[in-house]
Amino acid sequence: MTHNNKGFSRRDFFKTAGAAGIGSVLAPYLGGVSSLKASEVNASTKVPTRPFGKTGVDVSILSLGGMFDIPSNQIILKQAIRLGVTHWDTANSYGYGQSEKGIGRFFQGNPDARNHVFLVTKSGERDPSEMSKKLDTSLERMNTSYVDLYFVHGIRRISDIDNKTRAWAEDAKSKGKIRFFGFSTHSNMENCLLDASKLGWIDGIMMTYNFRIMHSDAMQKAVDACHNAGIGLTAMKTQGGGPVKTDSELELKIAGRFVQKGFTPEQAKLMAVWENPAIANICSQMPSMNLLAANAAAAMKRENLTTSDFRLFQDFDKETASDYCAGCAHLCESAFSHSIPVCDVMRYLMYARNYGDKELAINLFQKIPSEIRQQIFKADYTRAEKRCPRHLAIGKLMKEASLELV
Ligand code: SF4
Repeated sequence: MTHNNKGFSRRDFFKTAGAAGIGSVLAPYLGGVSSLKASEVNASTKVPTRPFGKTGVDVSILSLGGMFDIPSNQIILKQAIRLGVTHWDTANSYGYGQSEKGIGRFFQGNPDARNHVFLVTKSGERDPSEMSKKLDTSLERMNTSYVDLYFVHGIRRISDIDNKTRAWAEDAKSKGKIRFFGFSTHSNMENCLLDASKLGWIDGIMMTYNFRIMHSDAMQKAVDACHNAGIGLTAMKTQGGGPVKTDSELELKIAGRFVQKGFTPEQAKLMAVWENPAIANICSQMPSMNLLAANAAAAMKRENLTTSDFRLFQDFDKETASDYCAGCAHLCESAFSHSIPVCDVMRYLMYARNYGDKELAINLFQKIPSEIRQQIFKADYTRAEKRCPRHLAIGKLMKEASLELV
C-alpha cells in the first residue's frame, strides 16, 4: 500500500516534517518585529560562529544568501541580525541590482547594523577596470564604504584569475574598499580549490558543497588544502538538488528518520555540511521567515549525524545520481570542439525546477550568446553522456532547457 492510499501523501509528509522540526526553538523570535535596536543585536541566543580562514574574523555558521526580493523583505534582514545570522552574501547581478539596493535601504534605516554584518558581494567581471566600476556601484547601492569580502563570481578554472586580479585586490584593499578577496565557483570546484590553496593571496572561497559530493577523495583533498592554507570556505547549494526533481521513496525514509530525531531532512543536510570544521559557514537563500527560522534553529541545535544517517544519504545519492549534476564540467564539456556550457545549463535548470526561480533561470540562459544557444539545441551529446560519471541524460536535459528557458 502506498502512502497516498492512506490519505497521507509525500507532500503532506514533508509539510508535517517541516512544521515538526526544531524550528520551535525559535518561537520567541517569530513574534512581532519592531525596529532594530542595539540590545536586540546583543540578545543571548544566536547562531554560533566559526573562524573564517586566517582572516581573524569569526563569521556566523549560517549566511543569508541575498538572491531574493530584499527591498520588499526588509524584515528578514532584521530577523537575521536578531538571530545572529550576520554573514550576508549578495552579488552585483542579483535581482538586477535590487538585492544590493535592498541591503542599502536596510543599512540606511539601521546604520548600526553595518558594524554587525560581514558583507560579501561579487561580480562576474574579470577585467580589473570593469571590476572597479562594479565594486563602486555595489558600494553605492549598499550605502557602505567597504565590503568585508569581494568575490570574482563563478570561476571555472584558476586561470580565470591571475596577477592582474591580484594587483586589483591589493589596490582595493589598500583603498579600504574591500577587506578580503576571493572567488565563488560552481564548476570544477575541486580543481579551483586545490589550485587556489597554492596561490597565497586568496582569503575566501564560496563553492558548491553538499552531502552528495563532500566525501569524494578529490573534494576532501581540495577542502583540506584550502583549510590548511587558511582560506575561509563558505558552502553553497547544500541541499544537493539537481536539474531533475528527485522523486525517491528513500526521501520518505530519510524524512521519517530525521523527524524522529526532531529535525527535517533539509536541516539534516545542513548539519552534514557543518560537521566538517573546515567549512566556515553555509550560504542559504532564505526568502521566508520560516526558512530563516528553520535554518537558524538547525545551526543553534546542531548535532552530529550518525554513520547510519550518512549511509542513508549515500544510498539516496546513489539512487538519484543521474538527477544531480556534480559540477565536473571538464569531463562532459571536453567532448565538444565548440564551447557548450553543459554544467551551467544544468544549474539553470536546477534554479527553475528545484528552486522554483524560473525567471532567474531564463535570465541566465538568455545571457548565453545566441550562436551557442543554437548549438545547445542541436549538438550531439552522445560522447558527453559517456563521460558523465553520474549518467545524466545530458542531451534530453539540454534540449528541455532550450525549450523551457525562453
Ligand atoms: S553533466 Fe555530468 S559530467 Fe557534466 S558537469 Fe554534470 S555531472 Fe559532471
